[in-house]
Amino acid sequence: MAESSEVVVAMDWGGTWARAAVVDRQGAVRWRSRQANPTGADRAALLAVGLEVLRQAVAWCGTWPIVGVGIGIAALVDGVTGTLEGSPHLRPLNGVSLKALWEPELGHPIWTGNDANLAALGEFHYGAGHAEPLARTPPKTLFYMTVSTGIGGGLVHQGEVYVGAHGLAVEPGHMVIDWRPDAPKCDCGSAGCLEALASGSAVARRARQRRAEPYWRNSSLAGLPEDAITSEAVFEAAGRGDALAIEIVDEVVQALAAGLAGVLHLVDPDLLVLGGGVTQGLVALDRLPAIQALMRQRAMSNGHRRCPLVPARLGDAAGLVGAARLVWQQTPQL
Ligand SMILES: [Zn+2]
Repeated sequence: MAESSEVVVAMDWGGTWARAAVVDRQGAVRWRSRQANPTGADRAALLAVGLEVLRQAVAWCGTWPIVGVGIGIAALVDGVTGTLEGSPHLRPLNGVSLKALWEPELGHPIWTGNDANLAALGEFHYGAGHAEPLARTPPKTLFYMTVSTGIGGGLVHQGEVYVGAHGLAVEPGHMVIDWRPDAPKCDCGSAGCLEALASGSAVARRARQRRAEPYWRNSSLAGLPEDAITSEAVFEAAGRGDALAIEIVDEVVQALAAGLAGVLHLVDPDLLVLGGGVTQGLVALDRLPAIQALMRQRAMSNGHRRCPLVPARLGDAAGLVGAARLVWQQTPQL
């Protein structure tokens, strides 16, 4: 049947990988591939890699009808023009509209969005939102936060991503948690942001600072070379009972709980989903229940307290199936 073979070409373009996939209307990934962004690449070299991985996906589809192309990218995406801005990881692409540039090249309509927003859309329709047995299925309002090298997020209400007046929502990593003058600086130019306290970069930076204190000279982190101090190393050390690592992880738990309590009061979601590499570290240490308990202590009503906090389910496929969903939502089934 021709209709069931309709597919979408999806792309998830982050700071390290340009991923592409072919996704059907049910959210199943039929094919996927990825290419590393060349290090230190200029705009032309980055665009060449992105277009190449998309062309591979289009070629794989053969005679299957391609409904459109959905692209999630680690940048702020202007809601009207699709112009990218504010990307620290794909800086040469700031000012580019992939839609304007690639629609003539590929011959298919293109929709673009922020990668974390589209990962939220993917988790809503095909991941945690679909599988969560405790909430109404599907949830009405899902808030997704990815805690990784940085912190991003997405808000999906009744199946649609909320992008705000200019397409720039939501950026939970830049909620200010610590307002004091000595709060850690954030890459966004502010200080005391959730990202500066609880991201993978923040965990590594905190470990580098604190292991130099005489009190912690017996910590296993104190003996590691500087470049071996990563968030993964801190989570591993915490798993082995290292007291400094446990203290740093506890600070992450506190900061995330405070940030998520803010989200609860601002958004009133019925499902909170946490993804990303730091979340995987927290799940391995069984710290999600502690985050949920601390978040609930700060909640102002039982209604807020009821909201479950669950790990993401789709891993690095969330952005791809979410980008595909963005296209399917524009093209109703005949
Ligand atoms: Zn910030």
